[in-house]
Amino acid sequence: MSKVVLPPSTIGIIGGGQLGRMMAISAKSMGYKVAVLEPGKDSPLAQVADIEINAAYNDEAALTKLLEISDVVTYEFENVPSKEVAKLKSLGNLPQGEQPLVITSHRLKEKLAIEGAGYRVAPFLSVTSADELRLAVKKIGYPCILKTASGGYDGKGQWVLRSEADLPEVLAIAGDNEYVLEGFVNFEKEVSVIVTRSVNGDVEAFPTFENVHHQQILHTTRMPANISDQLDEEARTVAKGLMEKLDFFGTLAIEMFVTDEGIVINELAPRPHNSGHVTMDACMVSQFEQHIRAVCGLPLVKAESVRPGIMVNLLGQHIDYALENWQKPEFSDAKLHLYGKEENKRDRKVGHLNFVASDWTTLDAKVEAFLKNFPE
Ligand code: AMP
Repeated sequence: MSKVVLPPSTIGIIGGGQLGRMMAISAKSMGYKVAVLEPGKDSPLAQVADIEINAAYNDEAALTKLLEISDVVTYEFENVPSKEVAKLKSLGNLPQGEQPLVITSHRLKEKLAIEGAGYRVAPFLSVTSADELRLAVKKIGYPCILKTASGGYDGKGQWVLRSEADLPEVLAIAGDNEYVLEGFVNFEKEVSVIVTRSVNGDVEAFPTFENVHHQQILHTTRMPANISDQLDEEARTVAKGLMEKLDFFGTLAIEMFVTDEGIVINELAPRPHNSGHVTMDACMVSQFEQHIRAVCGLPLVKAESVRPGIMVNLLGQHIDYALENWQKPEFSDAKLHLYGKEENKRDRKVGHLNFVASDWTTLDAKVEAFLKNFPE
């Protein structure tokens, strides 16, 4: 029998960012208490948590304390040190274990795991030196993308090579570090699926999300994606299959490219994901509540949409414009979610707006009107 953690038990969360904050808000509304481990004081999550532990993520004493005071522990990002998690997990209840962290924090391991489970990724080669890069570019061909194996996000630690002319500059950057060289995928759309697996065995996948990026940062997500029912079914089946074959629990977000030859998987994240924020106002359950239910061993809610939704991401440079317009009567049904970040820094995610309506024509018109003079 899997362990069921009921309110008012304490849920410990490693990482204090906006994903943890939104997990905590869901947990608190169900009556749980929340503890957070995060180096910086007064993080977005700490502002809504009951207990705050300020220490590095690999501080063994702090991790031990979190495991001891919590009835269940989860994480809100993939760069939590897996070594310490593996060493200390037996001191408490950490149902996701370290394996999702090991795989998804390293692009090469992640691609090998996806291929091993029988799904497609872009052609790729491991690169650890300038010579290997030259060879890899010869094999993969232009255009291609060099990505750091670990630590990159939102396009950071990535260099596009369009032709030989770009090679010297990228060679100058690529030292003896670990990289993955990826072939460029000619995609029609970028989509993602968020799948949740409860400790009790339930598995649910939300409808496919359709994502638009600006400068490699997510700009908007529409749900359900404007794709055929068959493709939606295929994407959700791939997501559930991957979750079960990798034997992960909790949440897995899968970013995918839709190509004329089918689905190619780009990236995985073992946590709720920016593209799933629209679930908060447009689905039977949010990705955050579903995640809490999963790690607590509760049955999952059917992950169905109740109405079409579009999420608009708010970066630091968008906040003044967003607030000025959100207060207007014509946008009164747009749901505002702000993360309590200390500063509105450029290109930092500080919040999002969920637009919902009963039909796509009304919804598209509303979002178009809102985005009319949206800052770059
Ligand atoms: P990532 O950090 O891997 O999610 O990449 C950020 C964005 O870069 C993606 O959402 C795509 O828009 C683009 N991108 C990444 N890898 C590829 C690829 N192999 N082919 C085409 N576009 C890509």
